[in-house]
Amino acid sequence: MSTWWLARKIKWQIVLLLWLCSGFCVAADLDTRDLLSDYIRLDTSNPPGNEVLGAAFFAEIFAAYGIEHEVIEVAPGRANIWARLPGGDQPALLLLHHMDVVPAAPARWQQPPFSGLIDDTYLYGRGALDSKSLGIFQLQAMLALKAQGKALNRDLIFLATADEEAGGQMGLAWLLDKRPELFEGIGGVLNEGGRGDRRGDTLSFGIEVTQKLPLWLRVSARGEPGHGAIPRSESASQRLIAALARLEQLVFTAQLLPGVKSYLNKLAKDFPAPWHERLLNVEALVSSPQQMAELREFDHRLYAQLRSTCAITRLQASAKINVVAPEAWAEIDCRLLPNHQPEQALQSITRALGDASLQITPLLSFEPGISAQEHFLYRALEQNLAERFPAATIVPRMTAGFTDSHFFREKGIPAYGFIPVILDAEQARGIHGDNEKISLQNLRFGRDFMTKLVTQICLD
Ligand SMILES: [Zn+2]
Repeated sequence: MSTWWLARKIKWQIVLLLWLCSGFCVAADLDTRDLLSDYIRLDTSNPPGNEVLGAAFFAEIFAAYGIEHEVIEVAPGRANIWARLPGGDQPALLLLHHMDVVPAAPARWQQPPFSGLIDDTYLYGRGALDSKSLGIFQLQAMLALKAQGKALNRDLIFLATADEEAGGQMGLAWLLDKRPELFEGIGGVLNEGGRGDRRGDTLSFGIEVTQKLPLWLRVSARGEPGHGAIPRSESASQRLIAALARLEQLVFTAQLLPGVKSYLNKLAKDFPAPWHERLLNVEALVSSPQQMAELREFDHRLYAQLRSTCAITRLQASAKINVVAPEAWAEIDCRLLPNHQPEQALQSITRALGDASLQITPLLSFEPGISAQEHFLYRALEQNLAERFPAATIVPRMTAGFTDSHFFREKGIPAYGFIPVILDAEQARGIHGDNEKISLQNLRFGRDFMTKLVTQICLD
């Protein structure tokens, strides 16, 4: 047992003592920063994941607070943790976050990525936003409810998963398949996905209700291998490159989904001319190839809300410069609007590639799913945000990326993406980027907002 581990054990005993002596609030106030800093110091980079460290961290806390919990190890080093406060018969609320993080290259960071360092303004480290802070906010909301000792109207469930950043096969996919009883009676899931964004002096909150559908493909070409000094007229690489060049010409039809229309309309007031007017009149924008091309230059994120896209992200052929490879392949990351059937998209892509000898293998594909706004969790999020920030724009949104929420939406369980933090563009770049950090102001806001929200939902 390391001295650090021992120190943390002692710290938890002190926290528990404080709680017993003087009420929970003292302990909660003392520890949001320390909790997140400790959690970030556990290196759960995926690969390899090592989420068992995070599961042990939470298990220790749940044990200290007498909360029912279970660590579910699915492979060496890969674990999930589930905990529950039992309540009445209203549909259960599931608080979800993932413990794994994307890797960080220390040479490009100003602070070591797993330091959990705190200065006057920020707490630094990989996972500070995606999504360890969310896990700590959810944990503290659960501890606060437990400390109140009141009867809950519904079960409150906490779930911290492994492997989200690699698609969830060691995490939610495994749990839903092997432990379906853990998800019985769940009426709403609160996960990552949306947040507050500050642009100049405007503030908007997006609550994620749907995602674009990934359709990941591998395209392979075969040909005669040989010496680079005496090339034949055809090779695997040539065939692949020609097909990919044709694919680059494929532009999916721009489409305006009803949710996206209201999202862009509501955001319009925060944008300068001519985008203010164009986002108010999105139908005209969508039907003008010229304006769509300009939108892509102006804001490629908004552009992705209006069209299915494909990006050629991986390419491989020969391992040696003087060898003509027998096989060349590319991997293509397509993201479809939620009403775009994957089979139909695959047909368009196959036609665009235009070479029947190519082998096209789907690597990943999801079914569509949208969570309704008419739901106790969405309404509670919206109402709490509106009370606290009356001038802010609050909108349901579609994200271009995907999270574990899709697993629930496919099963008809409503899931909403929202982390209670407000970011400017610089802070947002830290997500999957360098120098990820969270402001201490966001830490206070996130903890208070989550505790109030969860208390309201489980006690009303
Ligand atoms: Zn995440």
